[in-house]
Amino acid sequence: MHPFTISRVVDPREAIATHSGDAGAVFIAGGTDLLGLMKDRAALPAHLLDINALPGMGEVSALPDGGLRIGALARMSDVAADPAVRQRFPVIAESLLFAASGQLRNMASVAGNIMQRARCPYFRDDDGLPCNKRKPGSGCSALHGLNRGQAIFGWSESCVATHPSDLAVALAALDAIVHVRNPSGERAIPFAEFHRLPGDTPEQDNILGRGDLIVAIEVPARAEGRASHYLKVRDRQSYEFALVSTAAAVASDGRTIRSVRLATGGVAHKPWRLAAAEAALRGLSFDDETRLKAAIARSFRAARPLEHNAFKVELAQRCVLRALQRAGERV
Ligand SMILES: Cc1cc2nc3c(=O)[nH]c(=O)nc-3n(C[C@H](O)[C@H](O)[C@H](O)COP(=O)(O)OP(=O)(O)OC[C@H]3O[C@@H](n4cnc5c(N)ncnc54)[C@H](O)[C@@H]3O)c2cc1C
Ligand code: SF4
Repeated sequence: MHPFTISRVVDPREAIATHSGDAGAVFIAGGTDLLGLMKDRAALPAHLLDINALPGMGEVSALPDGGLRIGALARMSDVAADPAVRQRFPVIAESLLFAASGQLRNMASVAGNIMQRARCPYFRDDDGLPCNKRKPGSGCSALHGLNRGQAIFGWSESCVATHPSDLAVALAALDAIVHVRNPSGERAIPFAEFHRLPGDTPEQDNILGRGDLIVAIEVPARAEGRASHYLKVRDRQSYEFALVSTAAAVASDGRTIRSVRLATGGVAHKPWRLAAAEAALRGLSFDDETRLKAAIARSFRAARPLEHNAFKVELAQRCVLRALQRAGERV
């Protein structure tokens, strides 16, 4: 058993200062990922800072301009059920409802969700096999091992893991903003910059550092927000992480696509935005499936599948097409 202490913080400044000055301290919200990591000995913090009592971080606010501000401690189930979220950004509500289980969603916070760590079995299992994310410099067992669930984009020889969060895929498509406070003040991080590709330092999942506390996630008003959909493909229909997924949001003139936002999950170390497909889809008709497929394919030319996951290249494109069509039905 790894020994640790736990204390409850009620003042954000105290939480940030303690985290900032103690290399062994970690924040704990719902604990649904952190405690699993500790049991698997993939995280060995000396001190847990329970942030659940921090004031003003649990609410969902519908902004007057049509956007949203979601407090970092808002629970996944509460966000998914919020009327403004469901009406303005169905893709967010769906990404949450397709994640984990009802009990987990009642405990788990949105900040914890986007901070959750890879589900790569070599990382999670405490079996001593090399894993650069668990033990930097030890090697990557998945690169030439079991890699069916791993990345097809953006991986490096150091790590081929994918990011497991469904919500993060929806937030990436919508260009959300992560509000982070630290001893120097508050900063706004564009969602595309929040998570990292593995490169030579796969132990770093995102750009946060010591003393950084997520306080809220902002979703700016989007013309594409209401006609949006999250589609998740997995090995079983519930209580399972994505093999591939798509967040699609569109604006259209009748049956013609005016603008579209697309992000895929289960394919990279971070949510993967499909910029080439988004550009090629503009002006196409929802009814012209041949051209829709060709436009989507543009974003998959750069795919680099591993030995066991080439099927994801085709599966992900089908997932994008279906998500786009379903979003289009909501226009
Ligand atoms: C069996 C199982 C199935 C799951 N299935 C899915 C799934 O299908 N899809 C999916 O998306 N997720 C899934 N999850 C993951 C689940 O959604 C996450 O565990 C949960 O969202 C984490 O939130 P939490 O509040 O419990 O975070 P915690 O476990 O408390 O924390 C996780 C991390 O976030 C950090 N953290 C928390 N809050 C902050 C903050 N405000 N600022 C800075 N850092 C912070 C913590 O320090 C820690 O490093 C599953 C989990 C389990 C156990
Ligand atoms: S893919 Fe990443 S998490 Fe998995 S074994 Fe390789 S280094 Fe570890």
